[in-house]
Amino acid sequence: MKEEECRVAANTIIQGRYYLMKIESAYISEKSKPGNFVMVAVSGSNDPLLKRPFGIFKIDPPYFYIYYEVVGRGSKLLASKKEEDRVMVVGPLGNVFPEYENENILFVGGGRGIAPLYFAIEKYSGSNNISLIYGARSKEDLLFTEELKKFPLKETAFYTDDGSGFTKGLVTTDIKEIINRNGINVTFSCGPDKMFESLNEEIGSLGIRNFVSLEAFMGCGFGICYSCVVKGSDGKYKKVCSDGPVFRMEEIKWQT
Ligand SMILES: Cc1cc2nc3c(=O)[nH]c(=O)nc-3n(C[C@H](O)[C@H](O)[C@H](O)COP(=O)(O)OP(=O)(O)OC[C@H]3O[C@@H](n4cnc5c(N)ncnc54)[C@H](O)[C@@H]3O)c2cc1C
Repeated sequence: MKEEECRVAANTIIQGRYYLMKIESAYISEKSKPGNFVMVAVSGSNDPLLKRPFGIFKIDPPYFYIYYEVVGRGSKLLASKKEEDRVMVVGPLGNVFPEYENENILFVGGGRGIAPLYFAIEKYSGSNNISLIYGARSKEDLLFTEELKKFPLKETAFYTDDGSGFTKGLVTTDIKEIINRNGINVTFSCGPDKMFESLNEEIGSLGIRNFVSLEAFMGCGFGICYSCVVKGSDGKYKKVCSDGPVFRMEEIKWQT
């Protein structure tokens, strides 16, 4: 991990409030593995003071990409960056999805949670049997479906809450059937907390290995400030930035 001033090679609006930023860094692009994230300074000044965390969406050395949603001031500032601008980036940070071979893996993405999964699907689809469930509020929030279909996936299921563009439903709607049909023994998921709660209810007791990549408010990104802690099922607090962001589902104390 290191801090580096990086060149913005492109910052493209994909749709609505969703952007893809291509950033030049030989170091980060070569060192990153699926699950890792970076902390990005969204302005050139101390306002806002804190860098913002973003998952690595894909790599193409010397470039890496982040796929982000504009939700507040920091991400809005990031969206205003132009090609050739410079951004301070710290990374790669956090742990990674475990590397498997010849497993039947189900990826479950909720909205922008597809970001770290995309990298993992790209990397692991050659050596594992991969299926994908991907859902979002509406078709405007369900991006990269065509790109994802180009990977050698056993089954893909796309859902929108409002039924626009894809099957109406949640990522959990047909999950048990998809798990049975494809002999799934591992899941990797990323999405909003509510999605994890439902996943835990639906598949937490099936006896398969479930890994979740969590989002949390984050100050430093490497374990110093404790602003990203979540409660573990053992009653102890875990730092999303340095103990995670990838955890076994049963390590986390879910609300339900
Ligand atoms: C490890 C990690 C990886 C992430 N990867 C991505 C990614 O690939 N793409 C992406 O778009 N976002 C990602 N996020 C979330 C992203 O960091 C936040 O959306 C961003 O920091 C918001 O900054 P802001 O200043 O625009 O919003 P703020 O003004 O700080 O907040 C605006 C709204 O966003 C919510 N919010 C802010 N920060 C977070 C957060 N960390 N988690 C959940 N909700 C938050 C707030 O509740 C508020 O409603 C990731 C977060 C973590 C911890």
